[in-house]
Amino acid sequence: ATIPQLLAEAVAAHGSNDALIFRESGDRLSYVEFAKTVDRIAAGLLSLGVKKGDRVGIWSPNRLEWVLTQFATARIGSILVNINPAYRLSELEYALNKVGCSVLVAASKFKSSDYKGMLRELMPDLAEGKPSPRFPDLNHVVMMEADPGPGMIPFADLAGLATPELLAQLEDVTLTPEEPINIQFTSGTTGQPKGATLSHLNIVNNGSFVTDRINLTAQDRMVIPVPLYHCFGMVMGVLGAVSKGATMIFPGEAFDPAQTLDAVATERATALYGVPTMFVAMLQELDTAHRDLSSLRTGIMAGALCPIEVMKRVNKDMNMKEVTICYGMTETSPVSFQSFTDDPTEKRCETVGRIHPHLEVRIVDGHGKTVPIGEKGEIWTKGYSVMSGYWGDQPATERAVLDGWMQTGDLGVLDEEGFCTIVGRVKDMIIRGGENIYPREIEEFLIRHPKVRDVQVFGIPDERFGEEVCAWVVARNGEDLTPEALRDHCKGQIAHFKIPRHFRIVADLPMTVTGKPQKFVMRDQMVEILA
Ligand code: ATP
Ligand code: MG
Repeated sequence: ATIPQLLAEAVAAHGSNDALIFRESGDRLSYVEFAKTVDRIAAGLLSLGVKKGDRVGIWSPNRLEWVLTQFATARIGSILVNINPAYRLSELEYALNKVGCSVLVAASKFKSSDYKGMLRELMPDLAEGKPSPRFPDLNHVVMMEADPGPGMIPFADLAGLATPELLAQLEDVTLTPEEPINIQFTSGTTGQPKGATLSHLNIVNNGSFVTDRINLTAQDRMVIPVPLYHCFGMVMGVLGAVSKGATMIFPGEAFDPAQTLDAVATERATALYGVPTMFVAMLQELDTAHRDLSSLRTGIMAGALCPIEVMKRVNKDMNMKEVTICYGMTETSPVSFQSFTDDPTEKRCETVGRIHPHLEVRIVDGHGKTVPIGEKGEIWTKGYSVMSGYWGDQPATERAVLDGWMQTGDLGVLDEEGFCTIVGRVKDMIIRGGENIYPREIEEFLIRHPKVRDVQVFGIPDERFGEEVCAWVVARNGEDLTPEALRDHCKGQIAHFKIPRHFRIVADLPMTVTGKPQKFVMRDQMVEILA
């Protein structure tokens, strides 16, 4: 199906159901209202001259306008370009020009960032109606504000531009599932984000398979604290929910543990999504103030290595008895592995489950040869979900996709029953004095320490051993923690060569907007600190 078909089906089957609840702004829309608004905005985009295949950028935190833009662009076959809300001027300029956006839809601000001010600075000619010679493809800036000033179109006015003729034109748009509909940037966990080109077929199917596995129905109410800008929010969250006619609840513009838990409790949510660091923060928040989470049943933890300890607590202390783990990447729309809700608890906590429908997997060695079951290797996946490529970057595409196989860069092991355990990224494996060290093992050990809230382990160059093991540790609320205590804790418990040579106690870990710890940033800083 295409994205507009997906929404039309939800309206036909569950039209009066709540579709979208944005708690911060108070916006609430049923599926019928959602689809009607989408059509008006799509017609508004037509009036701006947006055509099929044109790129429309969106630069915004989680707001109603984001989801409306997602479906309105798809309605007319234009390609939505997700722009990282953390971007600053130079990155924004790069992204817009890289894919040639003709329209940018932007929030006026996010946290302390004045998006509107930044755009005025970047596009001084806006008042005259033409954004700037620095943006040869850009024709319009749409601003999520009632009165954004000269040269910018208020988002709310788009619906007003929809004439009966334009609305009628929507019926003439023909779409095919294989057409590109979205350029999605990767998280930037290992460096510069890359823009993956995805089709309706890629993401509509994946979203639907994801929520099949957690048995989501129109009665479910799903809390989405992960960014819409990322596939976790827009595909696994939004498309996954729409495929079932379920209700989507957005606790706030950006993740906040208290706000998220309050949303679950007040809205009587049944499902909750998050990356591991979000669940870690929510568990800590629950220690401070109790919430009634009795309505919760299921959810998804994904995006980074999920510590087993954390999964167990989520299962038990957050009442998410059917929580599942997903593994995937933006380039594969994103999910390839997921648990079933009735897999044994141990399997649901320790593995990323089994392969998704219509996909193939191979675990390969350094020469691309399949390894025996039970052995570690790089994960390769193949099937409908693999992107057509990185937008405008054929060489990078060829390095990533080989004969239809996505070479994920992640290390995993398959067992006899097909359950996959993620070992870590190929790039993050530490080779110290000839020993292969997997940071995950050490992280799993350290996070069980009662005073440790979060931990990341990585390697830095070392003259003697090639690489040395480092750990950055965040202490639990108010606990005092020292490198000496941590080192003592490791002695006799893990092999001596795995004991981090350098411990650093930090207040926060460097993170992507999607909540993933950036080991390359820690590595660079540590090298500088030790120099
Ligand atoms: P970039 O490619 O820009 O460096 P990124 O790889 O983090 O960033 P995403 O596409 O958002 O960008 O994330 C995909 C990656 O996240 C996977 O390749 C994998 O390393 C990691 N990941 C996803 N799910 C899991 C999981 N359940 N367990 C462990 N790692 C996971
Ligand atoms: Mg990646």
